[in-house]
Amino acid sequence: MTTFDAIIIGTGQSGPPLARRLAGAGMKVAIIERHRFGGTCVNTGCTPTKTLVASAYAAHMARRGADYGVIVEGAVKIDMRRVKARKDYVAGLSNTGVERSLKNLENCRVYQGHARFMSPREVQVGTEILSSEQIFINVGGRAVVPEIPGLEQVDYLTNSSMMDIDFLPRHLLVLGGSYVGLEFAQMYRRFGSEVTVVEIGSRLVPREDEDVSEAVATFLNHEGINLRLNARCLSVSKQGENIVMKLECADGGPEVSGSHFLVAIGRRPNTDDLGLEHAGVSRESRGFIEVDDALRTNVPGIWALGDCNGRGAFTHTSYNDFEIVAANLLDGDHRRVSDRIPAYALYTDPPLGRAGMTEAEVRRSGRRARVGKIAMEDVSRAFEKGETEGFMKILVDADTKEILGASFLGTSGDEAIHCVLDAMYAKAPYTTLQRAMHIHPTVSEFIPVILSELVPLSQPPSERSAAA
Ligand SMILES: Cc1cc2nc3c(=O)[nH]c(=O)nc-3n(C[C@H](O)[C@H](O)[C@H](O)COP(=O)(O)OP(=O)(O)OC[C@H]3O[C@@H](n4cnc5c(N)ncnc54)[C@H](O)[C@@H]3O)c2cc1C
Repeated sequence: MTTFDAIIIGTGQSGPPLARRLAGAGMKVAIIERHRFGGTCVNTGCTPTKTLVASAYAAHMARRGADYGVIVEGAVKIDMRRVKARKDYVAGLSNTGVERSLKNLENCRVYQGHARFMSPREVQVGTEILSSEQIFINVGGRAVVPEIPGLEQVDYLTNSSMMDIDFLPRHLLVLGGSYVGLEFAQMYRRFGSEVTVVEIGSRLVPREDEDVSEAVATFLNHEGINLRLNARCLSVSKQGENIVMKLECADGGPEVSGSHFLVAIGRRPNTDDLGLEHAGVSRESRGFIEVDDALRTNVPGIWALGDCNGRGAFTHTSYNDFEIVAANLLDGDHRRVSDRIPAYALYTDPPLGRAGMTEAEVRRSGRRARVGKIAMEDVSRAFEKGETEGFMKILVDADTKEILGASFLGTSGDEAIHCVLDAMYAKAPYTTLQRAMHIHPTVSEFIPVILSELVPLSQPPSERSAAA
């Protein structure tokens, strides 16, 4: 048995920076990875998908060249091998960077293999037993694979196996019309595949406000993506060259067929094969490890960070988990998960940048609120760029002047949202942003404009649009 001051299981978005901080503080650290260094974000999540989104955007803009006076002779062709090679190169740099930095880290020993708890203080990797008074779990998650009859008989894809594709699927069926599914749907449509999205709910990205769902559906429809909403997948089967999905639905045909089938209906934590029962660590019903506001599990000396604790599902929430744990352990700074403001993006084109509460959440909170909204076609920068889909919406508390939330669906929405997010962290009243002079021409210059034209939230959406 080898004893360490700290054991970290998983090299996702919080494990490696935590290893650096702990080892830098002179602790003897072990970090264990069973698959690829850097985890989901680096290998099968953010980095590769955003690299592919960039290729898809280039294809889209090449096709739109004539709109800008740029003449592309002949049809735009996509070389999927080069698309994949570019993705592999970019993701590979991050993956090898994480591996190299950990292996070169003083005071840190890297183990490659599957880690499993033997007791609250012991972890087994291969034939070795490691022990420590402090164990940090950063095991992430994987795609949910639903129990659909026939699924195991077809070669279905997940976000992970999509990374191996170096050819153009003739017709990609996407099960799930939310964040992951829509990014793949739009990118493959732009590469040239026929794409059908099957969503059980009545609208896309159902966690977002209805106006967001509607606008996303509109621009995806314009690009020729088939959307099947209110459609429950009953079974999947292989019929010749095709994969056929039988549907229970009110509108449209009872089946759809395509050449490839992507399952994108959510993520589940990698906590089922970790031996947590030997450590006595509690999980909730979906398998997420239960943690308190400082990310401590119910077992003293064991923490859970990143997607596996169910307190976030993003790279930045996992990294923020690292910051919280490190601040509490090493800096005497009592940072808490509840201090953070929900923020994320959907990387369709245009992207959605989100901060704080949705309009629906504000309504449910019962606060007296005001809202401002502007269509991107009224934003000069968007107009100049010829990218006018979407809108920007901000909600504020009518009494306290606190900024409650914002949804920026439009060109640069993923960047401009940080203006609002940072004002929220500063606990500045919305009037501070309203009086700020922003740079012209930018998307962000309309934030003060939106905040100058707020209307009470009780008005129906149609009147609000007119006011904006
Ligand atoms: C398609 C897709 C796109 C995404 N895009 C974005 C985006 O644009 N922005 C964003 O913020 N988020 C995005 N995400 C989410 C983001 O990737 C994750 O939230 C992020 O990677 C956080 O992961 P983590 O730190 O919890 O662990 P992970 O990155 O999942 O890493 C966990 C690591 O632990 C290892 N491991 C698991 N079990 C064991 C074990 N028993 N022993 C040893 N090692 C183990 C795994 O092999 C893995 O390397 C995306 C996700 C997907 C699927």
